[in-house]
Amino acid sequence: MDKFNSLIVRYSEIGLKSSHVRREMERLLIRNLEETFRAEGVHFIKIVKRASRIVVYTSDPRVRKVTKWVFGVKSYSPSIETEAQIDEIKRVALSIAAQKEGSFAVRVQRVTKDFPLTSVELARDVGGLIKGDTGRPVDLSDPDQEIIIEIVAGKAYITDERIEGYGGLPVGSQGKVIALISSGIDSPVAAWLMMRRGAVVIPVHFRKTPEEERGFREIVSVLKRYSHGVRFEPVVIEHGSALREFVEKGAREWTCLLCKRRMLVIANRMAKEVGASAVVTGDSLGQVASQTLDNLEVESRCLEKPVLRPLIGMDKDDIVKLAKEIGTYDVSISYDVSCPFVPKKPKTKGKWRDFVKIAEKVGAEELLHTC
Ligand code: ATP
Ligand code: MG
Repeated sequence: MDKFNSLIVRYSEIGLKSSHVRREMERLLIRNLEETFRAEGVHFIKIVKRASRIVVYTSDPRVRKVTKWVFGVKSYSPSIETEAQIDEIKRVALSIAAQKEGSFAVRVQRVTKDFPLTSVELARDVGGLIKGDTGRPVDLSDPDQEIIIEIVAGKAYITDERIEGYGGLPVGSQGKVIALISSGIDSPVAAWLMMRRGAVVIPVHFRKTPEEERGFREIVSVLKRYSHGVRFEPVVIEHGSALREFVEKGAREWTCLLCKRRMLVIANRMAKEVGASAVVTGDSLGQVASQTLDNLEVESRCLEKPVLRPLIGMDKDDIVKLAKEIGTYDVSISYDVSCPFVPKKPKTKGKWRDFVKIAEKVGAEELLHTC
């Protein structure tokens, strides 16, 4: 569609909430749209709620790209808004149909029922007009152009575009978490999934090498587009010197477990300080040595805050696909940089009683007394 005067935004899961929760989520969704458009320099006049739709008054083509970044959005369409009057609707639908060739279908949804015709009647009426005027054939199952008409509280929105959003819930609706982000492929996806479910994420990196820290900062700058004006500042904690000490004191095959345990213990403490409810990691069961069930148990034993692992049941291929989709894949550097502290044969089946002995040996007792 060349020109439009509005963007109609649909949300699904929010609509299922009780009215009190729904109102709060709708408010957040509008705020997040506004903040994202402002941050990206997208022009808009105003954003309003109309029945169970959100309408953005805009004709800026960049909304096609940027609206996708806002969680809670199921789908959206740059549209032409008119009064919900049959002649107006026909005129606009015909002008949109005139821009394309091939088969077409008219789809009508009456979001509110304040319209004299049923959806089927309106679709038939408009379809008949387009067919007569342009000679184009109707194909309801696989049309070249789909003309969508939505009736929403006295207005009609007419379009031939429907762009899918990522769904989820508005950022800010589900509290705060600390996400442990390396420079690899997995952890940015884990953080993104938590943002998609509405959590405010604090991105935390444990510094082992400058290259990794640079990678982390680039990842944060990509993820920031999904933060919708909520504070999203990177936090970096020195980690390499502690690891070096563990290695020098003979941690050997336990190094990775000590490394992960140290990150989780410190993140847990930090979560308590900043009022975050959980710590998030990018672990996927069995993907590497540190991610066996035995090791995960040792790493996160007896921590006050839950450790959430949104990727735990996902395959690498699926994670990579998501990383490419959300834009973090290109800036992750895990294939170029390998951790300088990884032993030749990392422990795959750590047991807590052995971990206690090794932690005492390397002087890391603070990793044991967490509850
Ligand atoms: P990723 O692809 O996220 O680096 P990975 O599969 O390489 O993960 P590990 O290196 O075993 O797995 O790390 C497991 C998880 O621990 C990561 O997903 C991440 O959440 C966290 N983590 C690892 N290294 C760091 C780091 N330097 N800073 C912060 N978190 C880290
Ligand atoms: Mg990694």
